Amino acid sequence: MQKPIDLRSDTVTKPNPEMRRAMAEAEVGDDVFGEDPTVNALQEKAAEILGKEAAIFVCSGTMANQVAIKAQTYSGDEIIADKNSHTFNYESGASAALSGLTIHTIKGTRGILTVDQIREAIRPDDHHFAPTRLISLENTHNRGGGSVYPLEEIIRIHELAEEVGLQMHLDGARLFNASVATGIDPKEYARYFDSVSFCLSKGLGCPVGSLVVGSAELIDKVHRYRKMFGGGMRQVGILAAAGIYAIDNNISRLKEDHDNAKELGGALPAIKGVAINPEEVETNIVIFDVAGTGMNASSVTDRLREHGVLMLPVSPTRVRAVTHLDVTAEDIGIAIRAIHQVFS
Ligand SMILES: *Cc1c(COP(=O)(O)O)cnc(C)c1O
Repeated sequence: MQKPIDLRSDTVTKPNPEMRRAMAEAEVGDDVFGEDPTVNALQEKAAEILGKEAAIFVCSGTMANQVAIKAQTYSGDEIIADKNSHTFNYESGASAALSGLTIHTIKGTRGILTVDQIREAIRPDDHHFAPTRLISLENTHNRGGGSVYPLEEIIRIHELAEEVGLQMHLDGARLFNASVATGIDPKEYARYFDSVSFCLSKGLGCPVGSLVVGSAELIDKVHRYRKMFGGGMRQVGILAAAGIYAIDNNISRLKEDHDNAKELGGALPAIKGVAINPEEVETNIVIFDVAGTGMNASSVTDRLREHGVLMLPVSPTRVRAVTHLDVTAEDIGIAIRAIHQVFS
């Protein structure tokens, strides 16, 4: 049987020979001493492309978010985030466990919160309440279906944060997808946030790694928490080299992933009982509801697997497909035919 077409996530990509070569040839040193030249080069590059003073390489997106949040809060604080955010749902309760925070969740529209919703969630200065300290946004939004945060809303939220003295964190695991989809410079997104995390191991195709960017002062604090959380790594230039390769080669090509996702999303309304608004496929994530077909999401993904196509059930009735650099336009055609067969 042929290799399955794996649309479960953009984390399933494998490093190509050029990336592996860059890794094999990387100059390394002990990064806990700050002496790995390749890590240092990656960090400088990340800070530069996001227009911040400094950056730090960490081992996962979860760690990136959690060290950034830890460095900007005190135990007992409250942070504001969307109910469907990665930080709230998929980081194993880390903000509570590691930073002693409560998360004030708000239900956004496809993960997007408005400034009015956030204003309402900010706690008054009263000792009954946990002090609100930080707003965490996610762009693009994973459970929101790859939705892109409107820049105007980010600007309004930033103005509010300035007005009342709140920190702003961006979970930018897929920030470059947002940037490629809109043509907005990643720097322009980043400037409204104190800290930004982004992942190398999603659409950019690296085996490991994320970065946090921010002011030099903030990144210095983050450095300590990275060590505290067990994330100090040694000759890790081998992994940073993959990151440099990815930033240089794999950003603008994200457009292909978006085109493939649109192709897939556009084919789904033709299937009876499948609910999706193709207009909502903004980047590389396609989420569709199969309630109307009489099948549940996991029986759909089981059937698709028999046809050599892997997707992920993300709720009892919703299925997610994510495009990435190991999926071609031809693969999408095959996936569409498989979906037709499953529902015929
Ligand atoms: C994948 C992802 C992360 C980080 O996940 P890790 O698996 O810890 O690397 C963070 N935020 C969002 C929105 C993500 O999709």
